[in-house]
Amino acid sequence: MNAKVWLVGAGPGDPELLTLKAVRALTEAQVVMIDDLVNPAVLAHCPQARVIAVGKRGGCRSTPQAFIQRLMLRHARQGRCVVRLKGGDPCIFGRGGEEALWLQGHGIEVEVVNGITAGLAGATQCGIPLTLRGVSRGVTLLTAHTQDDSELDWQALARGGTTLVLYMGVARLEQIRQGLLEGGMAPGTPVAMIENASLPQQRECRSHLAALEADARAFGLRSPAILVIGEVVRPSVVAALCRERAAERPRQLMHQG
Ligand code: SAH
Repeated sequence: MNAKVWLVGAGPGDPELLTLKAVRALTEAQVVMIDDLVNPAVLAHCPQARVIAVGKRGGCRSTPQAFIQRLMLRHARQGRCVVRLKGGDPCIFGRGGEEALWLQGHGIEVEVVNGITAGLAGATQCGIPLTLRGVSRGVTLLTAHTQDDSELDWQALARGGTTLVLYMGVARLEQIRQGLLEGGMAPGTPVAMIENASLPQQRECRSHLAALEADARAFGLRSPAILVIGEVVRPSVVAALCRERAAERPRQLMHQG
């Protein structure tokens, strides 16, 4: 049997947002290496497996990446069915791509199982459609956190006309606000900050670009949280659009008839 590792997305937190394929991988796993942001409730699907926690706990330092990779390799080479379980989707800011390449480079077969990424789940939980005809023609998932502290192309983001979904942004609200304002985004652009998306303790703070940090501070925003920035967050836009479509409907029916 070929050595194989499953890189599995556990979704944003709600255990019901696991895919059937993730459940199957968990059911078959002998070793499950679990990240911090994974809801431990999903482990109900793998009572047979040895579970190894490899995330950072209680603000301690994270388990070094190289150690995690070697551990996966060792278990896979010993012929065990290894599931590497990550929050959200493994390949959205989850190092899934890096781990897959490294494992494949060591002769290990890798199968990636998608999970629902926090940005998509958070928006949905708050009733925000990330794309909306006539309002937003796309969505950009990005992180404000870079390894080398390089700056994002704020101008391109501010003027691109897509909804922005920012991960790992809680400690960088000032840079985000400044960057987007300097890039030309309107100060009144609505923002939703969504903490613990899809979990019972989910909280949401509605704000606008110019007031980003002040509102987040008053709200006590804490990680993990995502930021959704764009006109789709403005409730009046969504409501107005719904009215417009309702008004369109009889006309369309008449044309068809
Ligand atoms: N692979 C994950 C992202 C990992 S990066 C995914 O696809 O969702 C970690 C960041 O994800 C956090 O800093 C936060 O910005 C976001 N995040 C993860 N889970 C979250 C949740 N339940 N609610 C809000 N943000 C979350």
